[in-house]
Amino acid sequence: MNKKNTPVLVCGAGGFIGGYLVDYLFKQGYTQVRAVDMKPLDEWYQVFDAAENLTLDLNEKEACYKASQGMEEVYNLAADMGGMGFIELNKALCMLSVLINTHLLMAARDAGVKRFFYASSACVYAAGKQLDPKNPGLKEADAYPAMPEDGYGWEKLFSERMCRHFMEDFGIKTRVARYHNVYGPIGTYDGGREKAPAAICRKVATAVLSGKHEIEIWGDGEQTRSFTYVDDCVEGTFRLMQSNVADPLNIGSSELVSINELVSIVEDIAGVKLERRYKLDAPKGVRGRNSDNTLILDKLDWEPRTTLRAGLERNYAWVYDQLSKK
Ligand code: NAD
Repeated sequence: MNKKNTPVLVCGAGGFIGGYLVDYLFKQGYTQVRAVDMKPLDEWYQVFDAAENLTLDLNEKEACYKASQGMEEVYNLAADMGGMGFIELNKALCMLSVLINTHLLMAARDAGVKRFFYASSACVYAAGKQLDPKNPGLKEADAYPAMPEDGYGWEKLFSERMCRHFMEDFGIKTRVARYHNVYGPIGTYDGGREKAPAAICRKVATAVLSGKHEIEIWGDGEQTRSFTYVDDCVEGTFRLMQSNVADPLNIGSSELVSINELVSIVEDIAGVKLERRYKLDAPKGVRGRNSDNTLILDKLDWEPRTTLRAGLERNYAWVYDQLSKK
């Protein structure tokens, strides 16, 4: 497939996954990549000179029209988001991201964009399916009857359906991924928006560097998740975008661990053992969440394959390096 000259737009390119996606597209041979984020360029996690880099607030309809002009493929990864600590306390802000996807879809339709990708989340899954830490894996159908994560999850589910109806009514090929906890180097690891793997890496690295051998864990640590390495997330995103899969698809690892096990792996990587203190009133999200990969294996003959241990080694090394420099 020669995609070299396809003009492609990446929204949220200054963020964690968006930065990796721009890099991946260049490596696939794309030459016309427009990268957009609302942050000033010096705050982007990764900047590629070969891209057309624009600072635009995609909540604004006019900005979406400007960004989409002349594009054939649009990846929407722009959203106001963070880990549990952020989304449980900023529900209105999370829901306002509906403006980004809605305006982008309208602009993409009017600009004649052929394919449109939307980054949804495992937070769309119904709460009642996530009560057991031994979660066997969430199937795509488990999003309905709907009872997603309040705020952030409702916005994601609504925007998924907006994509579906733009495809049905206007013919734009929309593709939707439900990401499960993405982690890796060059991501948010402090400041309140970080997710569990980066937070645990930071806490363990801080303990190593300070010599204060203790760690605070949110909840009792028995809540479970699966964590997806960012390279897998980006590869899955690209594969899905190029596919004929019209329904939402999980992009997530199916390697289930508890937060206590996650801490043990990072401790092992760092070569320390820390005294654990549990903060039971901290935000902790659902009790058990895993990705069922039956559908993605069936449709794309592919699933994320980086082991948690291998991914965390890279993530920990990067976080440790950042903290050491400070
Ligand atoms: P991120 O916060 O690092 O990146 C999002 C980017 O969007 C940020 O750089 C932000 O500045 C930008 N943005 C926000 N509002 C904007 C606006 N109005 N106009 C232009 N840019 C704007 O997050 P990420 O981890 O890279 O996530 C990317 C996407 O994947 C998001 O939609 C997120 O909800 C989704 N997702 C991520 C995860 C995960 O574990 N990281 C899990 C599920 C879903």
